[in-house]
Amino acid sequence: MRRPSACSDANLWAIHYAKQLWATENRKGPAAVPTEADLVPYLRSSQWPSCPALGTYTIGAVAAYPTCSHGAVQGHTLKPSFEPKTRRLLEEMKKRRAR
Ligand SMILES: [Zn+2]
Repeated sequence: MRRPSACSDANLWAIHYAKQLWATENRKGPAAVPTEADLVPYLRSSQWPSCPALGTYTIGAVAAYPTCSHGAVQGHTLKPSFEPKTRRLLEEMKKRRAR
């Protein structure tokens, strides 16, 4: 069984960054709301991530953070303090796609 924090540490960030890549490549503004199918090609696993507690994800607008339906439970909410670490990951992903 995966750690409960997989939701906040990995999945929500993956969705968040997939959204940013989608917006960049498709010239979408901050208010645009992508669908699951829009984002799957931008996920490293090419698979929609699933919440370890079977929550459902709300993608939301490009400028907003995605949320899990278990958002009130610890480990199911994005921690913006993680962002500097994962920003590097986004740059790497962008570079890889540009090749
Ligand atoms: Zn969750």
